[in-house]
Amino acid sequence: MLYPGVKKLGKELGFKRTNNEAVGMMRNCFVKLYDGRNMKLLEIFVPQIFDADKEQIEEILKQDKVKRYEWFNNSIKITFPEYFRPYSMSKIKNILISITDHFYRKYPEEIPQCHDCGEQKRAEAYYIGNVTKFLCSDCFRTAERTTNEKFNEYQQEPNNYFRGFIGALLFAIPGILVTILLFIFLERLAAISALLYIVLGMKGYKLFKGKTTPLGALIVILTGILMIAVGIIITYSVFIMKEIKTTDLNLVILILKVPEIRRDIILNIGLSYVISAFFIIVQLIQMMKEWRFLKNIQKAGEIK
Ligand SMILES: [Zn+2]
Repeated sequence: MLYPGVKKLGKELGFKRTNNEAVGMMRNCFVKLYDGRNMKLLEIFVPQIFDADKEQIEEILKQDKVKRYEWFNNSIKITFPEYFRPYSMSKIKNILISITDHFYRKYPEEIPQCHDCGEQKRAEAYYIGNVTKFLCSDCFRTAERTTNEKFNEYQQEPNNYFRGFIGALLFAIPGILVTILLFIFLERLAAISALLYIVLGMKGYKLFKGKTTPLGALIVILTGILMIAVGIIITYSVFIMKEIKTTDLNLVILILKVPEIRRDIILNIGLSYVISAFFIIVQLIQMMKEWRFLKNIQKAGEIK
């Protein structure tokens, strides 16, 4: 997602967008601007960097009290922390202009290198998987072919959904233990522990090499929903066994069927579903995203 500050400046500079970045050429530099957690990030890919350039740029940054930056082979990454309020976009803009002006004055004939072949060829911003690359047309064609091949290979891999399901099931067991412990020690059902089932289920699914596809996402979610119910029923059973000091399962089942207790169980299962619903949706979206990234290769688009 493109946040308002980045979006506005990106538009103003005539940049394009990927999933979460404004990207574009400024003078003879390729620029990426995006939001991070409590920060804005600015990456500038330049034609050349020598020590003298570094010194001059660092001087500019010092004047603007920018302390967090990192040099790479042909780029600089600057972090603008945002603890209490957003960093001033006009300040970011001025820094961007000063830096790109510097490189334009020093290397007017040159352009940044293609991220894949490293040659100074005419290039454009592409969005591959969830990374943005600045590629020449040859490298783009290669990347496109590789992405499609990889995705097709992935689609043709055997459907290991069942293994993934077993993984999700097994990993939910610690979640059930947490539910039981919370119930016995706090004497109340912490519906919040339902969240654990989904997180652990996802871990288990992946660890058992379950395929990341829309169907895979559905399996993880359904396993979680099933295990939430199973966990609560087991928790009640353990509690009953402890309270009336019995190991007679038939007796426990009889007690579980008592209307008041049954209502209580259903209520708790429902509550757990309500609490975890939002989280389930987030996980579902995340997994669908991962799947889409596998086949994603596209040009940066217009900022609307
Ligand atoms: Zn290239």
